[in-house]
Amino acid sequence: MSKLIGIDLGTTNSCVSFMENGRATIIPNAEGSRTTPSVVAFLKDGTRLIGSAAKRQAVTNAARTFSSVKRDMGSDTRYTVDGKSWSPQEISAMILRKLKEDAEAFIGETVTDAVITVPAYFSDAQRQATKDAGLIAGLNVLRIINEPTSAALAYGYNKGEPRKVMVYDLGGGTFDVSILDINSDTIEVLATAGNNHLGGDDFDQCIVGFLLDRFRKEHHMDLSGDPVALQRLSEAAEKAKIELSSLQKTDISLPFLAQASDGPRHLEVELTRARFDELTGHLVSATRGPVMQAMEDAGISASQLSGVLLVGGSTRIPAVQEQVRRLTGKEPSRDINPDECVAMGACLQGGVLTGAIHSMVLIDVTPLSLGIETMGDVFARIIDRNTPLPCQHSQVFTTAANFQTSVEINVLQGENETASGNKSLGKFKLDGIRRALRGIPQIEVTFNIDTNGIVHVSAKDLATNRSQNITISGSGNMSPSEIEQAIRDAERYARESEKRKSAEARDDGAYDV
Ligand code: AMP
Repeated sequence: MSKLIGIDLGTTNSCVSFMENGRATIIPNAEGSRTTPSVVAFLKDGTRLIGSAAKRQAVTNAARTFSSVKRDMGSDTRYTVDGKSWSPQEISAMILRKLKEDAEAFIGETVTDAVITVPAYFSDAQRQATKDAGLIAGLNVLRIINEPTSAALAYGYNKGEPRKVMVYDLGGGTFDVSILDINSDTIEVLATAGNNHLGGDDFDQCIVGFLLDRFRKEHHMDLSGDPVALQRLSEAAEKAKIELSSLQKTDISLPFLAQASDGPRHLEVELTRARFDELTGHLVSATRGPVMQAMEDAGISASQLSGVLLVGGSTRIPAVQEQVRRLTGKEPSRDINPDECVAMGACLQGGVLTGAIHSMVLIDVTPLSLGIETMGDVFARIIDRNTPLPCQHSQVFTTAANFQTSVEINVLQGENETASGNKSLGKFKLDGIRRALRGIPQIEVTFNIDTNGIVHVSAKDLATNRSQNITISGSGNMSPSEIEQAIRDAERYARESEKRKSAEARDDGAYDV
């Protein structure tokens, strides 16, 4: 059996691990680092750079470099270079392929099976897109698991005594909070909540806004439309933010940031932690709602928590840690490395799935309620949020008009009481309903969520037993034939890149002689 890897496909950085001698071990990449920047760049000669090489050249090649793609998973965003465009799944697949290749080089074996993590709060379309990205990268994705669950697995595995813990996960682009019940042989997610558009990138953007303002005031120039300047500002902002996690103030220096008619303009600013906290206070506050909701949904108060785990790079921000202390009254645990525990939990889960680890059951939940639209813009909830997975629920509906022979099922996900206030995951039609007065036909709608958190919906006319079903795929998701095409493209590129590398090696050899 080939080795299985656990992958944390992060917004900013990704990390991969495997089981070695019964322990989860982080795999260093080809450059020797334990995490790989989730960045892809396309060079003019057709070469692709992935990871730190792509990140390093982002400033000078901003229009051809893509980062934080995870934020667009499940959407119909396209990334275009030289007239060719890629979906978020395809760009993510390029990162996954590098992780796979680096893992193969490190382990010395082919790797096909993988467990990939996603934020607990990822919607169905985002999960499906992540699974497709794995497929395109040539991976057999055994399971998609939630990042906080994965972190808790890394933390709770082999630890003995039962306890309830909160996982507070603030990464580059997403925020999740989960309450878990860890026992010797089960880890059960009691509740999860979050915001999949809140993360470290937003903190960076607050600093960028502040710097743009400063520059405007000092030099009367607006750089908000200049992609190269913006890229430099974003990088400087992230660097300053990271420094402010350990220092009280930092200097931001960007020489030659713009060119005015009479010469270059530079930016020199001192940023204090206090000012940074003011600029980003609203982001820190925005984590309160999900924390409270998760505790309420789990039916526990902060005093019943035995610990709080911090996951994700942004939890290194002192104001974020302070917020956690304020909300829970607990000192966050420092037992686990926030950058690595998610990937480690993923390969442990792989071990559970393949039987390498016995006596550990993981029970996860669905993060958002699911249902369908009914007359008058009403959201008819069929599965409540925080229902343990896998699960299946059915409900019987009827027609709204006399002699109606077809119904359209609009599948919705969210917590709003109105249909239009929730996200539509997709629509499908059940026709051939026997003609009858309104209210007579009985149409049974069944929702099934598998262990990956992926939703399948079916509708059946109970009079005729005629049924229709779909596996939900959002507008941004790819059809099976598009995925197959993407797999072929990825394999072709891998072959070409292999050829290019061996030609380069031959050239290098010739030069050496
Ligand atoms: P992750 O998605 O978990 O890799 O988190 C990445 C995010 O964490 C990025 O926005 C980073 O800028 C941020 N980050 C990493 N280290 C630090 C640090 N020491 N202080 C503040 N933010 C950090």
